Parts: sequence; structure tokens; C-alpha cells
Amino acid sequence: MKSLYVKFTVTTIAIMLMSGLLSFMFSNFYYQQKLKPENDEKVTTIALQIAEYIEQELLLNLSTYLENIATAGYQLFLIDHAGTTQYYGDPFRVEELASQTKNLVLNGEVYHGIAQFPQETFVTGFFANELSNTIGVPVTYDDQQYALFMRPNIKLLFNEIHILFAWILVLAIALSVVFVLIGARFLILPISKLTAATNEIADGNFSVKLDIDREDELGKLATSFTYMSNQLAVLDDMKNEFISNISHDIQSPLSNIKGYSHLLEKNTVSESEKIQYIAIMNREINRLSNLTKQLLLLASLDRQQELLNKKRYLLSKQIEEVVLNYEWLIHEQDLMVSYTLPDRHIIGDPSLLYNVWDNLLSNAIKYNKPNGRIDLTLTAEDHGIVFCIQDSGIGFTDDVKARIFERFYREDSSRTKTVEGTGLGLSIVLSIVQLHDGHVKVDSSQEHGTKFTVYLPQQSLHQPADR
Ligand code: ADP
Repeated sequence: MKSLYVKFTVTTIAIMLMSGLLSFMFSNFYYQQKLKPENDEKVTTIALQIAEYIEQELLLNLSTYLENIATAGYQLFLIDHAGTTQYYGDPFRVEELASQTKNLVLNGEVYHGIAQFPQETFVTGFFANELSNTIGVPVTYDDQQYALFMRPNIKLLFNEIHILFAWILVLAIALSVVFVLIGARFLILPISKLTAATNEIADGNFSVKLDIDREDELGKLATSFTYMSNQLAVLDDMKNEFISNISHDIQSPLSNIKGYSHLLEKNTVSESEKIQYIAIMNREINRLSNLTKQLLLLASLDRQQELLNKKRYLLSKQIEEVVLNYEWLIHEQDLMVSYTLPDRHIIGDPSLLYNVWDNLLSNAIKYNKPNGRIDLTLTAEDHGIVFCIQDSGIGFTDDVKARIFERFYREDSSRTKTVEGTGLGLSIVLSIVQLHDGHVKVDSSQEHGTKFTVYLPQQSLHQPADR
């Protein structure tokens, strides 16, 4: 039973057969308990009335009368003390009857064979065409004692309407089997289509189209599947773009280093040129080292949550350390830095969050104007901590704002061309903040500079400090 189609049809037909069997058993039980005694009583009443009639109508021809009763739908058996027997109507399938029973009725007792008929699971006594499954009544005719046994002729009672019902039942079963076979195919078809589409995706074809138009769960599955394949296509494009960006960003410093090392090999290079070339090579090496560090960090951030090594620490102190690290650059560019950093604890991964403040501050320095300002503020709100860094730098337009968190995105303008960077800093910031369930807000204008606001939610800050 390999395919879902076979499983489904076999299970459904098995259920149909099971329920048929169970309903037969229940109705048989109902017949045995309720209908059989009633049936016995009904036939007994009729048999007694026949006997009474025979006894009252002195001019009656017994044989003709019993023939008529048989035609009306009964099977009869008549016996007298001498053992002379006579059958009327359809023959009994089993003609055995204990002589004790015969004598009992001949001696005036009533025999309840229908009620006494043995109860069996798969045998409905109603249909058992046996002489023992009859009602026996004593009859006196012509001063002679007889025993009359009778039962309704089920074959006769099973008239056209019953036959019609039997046909309806047989047809209903046959048609439901056919419909189950067709319906199952219709039900299983989308699954086969989904399997084919999955194989297409596995082969790298993300533009697979699913021709499934349904409102049910399979329809929803198909919609989600199409959405997933579109997302995979986007991810595939991103992956390709990412690889080409990395290749470009690694290739250009490497070819610079290679070019200057060739120049250094020449004997004609002066001492001052040597110093200049080595400085350029060092800068390119730093750029490569910075790029690989950032790429490694992004890769580890992509592996997510379990890497977080959270603890409670003094955030204000960490931000001060970052500012101190950049003091020489701040001086070099004649920048004014002011900060309001009250003692605030935070629960987070200190080494990851360090990268957030570091990237934001280095950007505020890199993209600032000469004699510009940088203002840092840290505040605690009801549900967390808010860090704000505002610079008076070159700012950017709304179009740039929409893209700054993309990996490798760098504004390509005359104002930013001369600034060193990889385009990875802000995507690292966003990933780390999101890993801490926070978010980042950006406001920027080319006149007033840029403001980055980082929100970090904090459930409980009442753990012991680890400074
Ligand atoms: P990088 O600084 O290495 O280029 P980032 O991801 O940190 O990469 O920043 C992406 C881009 O966003 C930058 O190239 C720059 O155009 C813009 N940007 C970021 N911070 C600022 C800022 N404070 N002022 C102006 N532009 C900024």
C-alpha cells in the first residue's frame, strides 16, 4: 500500500464495509431483543384466529382454506395424531421438527418457535426458512385434533418495494465505491502537483508555477508553497549578489596589495615612495581584515539566538569605553562630543552590543562635517532602554534611508566615496538589536544630520550586576 491514493481508497472502503457489518450486527441485536418476541406474538395471534375460524366454520374445507392462507403469504404445516402431514405454501428449507414439539401442540399447547429460535451473531432468525422457526397451534376439525405450524413467507413478503430497496442498497454501495475512487484521485492530485513542484525547487528552479485553485487546506498549502518558492528565489538572488559583493570587496584590496608589492620589488623606488606604498598596503590589509571580521560576525549572527551570551552589565560604562577608543579620531576631526550617560544596567550580550555602539559611533564620526557635533544619550523607559546618537553630519535622503540596513549597501555619492567602509556595519547593528528583541529608528536630513535611536526591551534588571 504505497501511494496515498491506494491508502485512502482502501481505508475508505474498509470503513464502509466495517460500518455495514456493525450496522448489521446492531440491527440483528435489535431484532433479537425487540422485534423477535413481537413477531412471535403477532404470528401467534394470527395462528390462533385461524384455528378459531376453522373450529367455528363447520362447513369449511380445511385444505382449501389453508391453501388460501398460504397464498396470502404464509407457509403452513399440518399434522394429526396418526402422523399424517400436509404442507401448504412454499416448502420449508429445513423440515426437521422434534416429535416432542408436535405432540405438545397436538395435546393443546401453543409452540413459540419464532421466539425460541436460537440467537446467533450472523443469523437473523427472521429469514430462517425452517419448520422449527414457526408458531404451532392446536386445531380441532371434524372432531379430530391437528397441530398447525405456520410462519410468514418472507420471500413473498419481500415484494417489489423490498426488492427495489435491496437494489438501491446494492447500487448505493457500488456507486460510493466508484465515487471514492474518483474523489480520492481529485483529492490526491494537488499533492502530486506539490511533489513535482518540490522536486523542481530542489533542482534550483524557483519560478515554478502551481496550478492549484482551491479554497481548502490544500489550497492554502499551495499558496504558502508559492510564497515559499518566491522567498527562496529572493534569497537565491541575495546570495548571488552577496557572493559577487564579497568577491569584489576582497578582490580590489588584494589587487592593490599585489600592485604595490610589485612596485616595491623595483630598485627604482625611492625611500619616501616605499613608505607611501607600505602605508597603502597596510590600509588595504586593514580593510580586508575588517571585512572578514564583519563577515564572520554576520555569519555567526545568522546562526542566531543560541550564540547569545547574555548577562547583566553596566551599559553606560560600555558606551564610555567605546567613546574613549575613538577619542584620537574625534580630536583629529575637530568634533564636539557630548554625552548624557547615567548609570544604566542592561541584560544582553556585552561583546555583541559593543559592536552596535562601535558601528553607530564610527559612522557618526565618518559621515560628519568638520567641526561637527555628536550627542549621545542613554535613558531608561518603562519597558527598556533607549540609546540615542545624533550627529551633525552629511545625512541622507529617504531613498538612501530605505536601504542603509541592507548588506553591502553604501551610498554612492561624491560625499561618501572618500569614506572607508564595507556597507556591513548597519546590517550588523540591526541583526544584533533584533537578536535582543529590540529595534532601530533612523531620522536623517542632509541639513541637520542623522539620529539613530536604539530601543532594547528589558523584562527584569534585578539580577546581580557583573561589571
Ligand atoms: P559603511 O559605513 O561601512 O559604509 P554601514 O552599513 O555602516 O556601512 O552604513 C551604510 C551606509 O549608510 C553608509 O555607506 C552611509 O552611506 C550611510 N550612513 C550610515 N551612517 C550614517 C551617518 N551617521 N550619516 C550619514 N550616512 C550614514
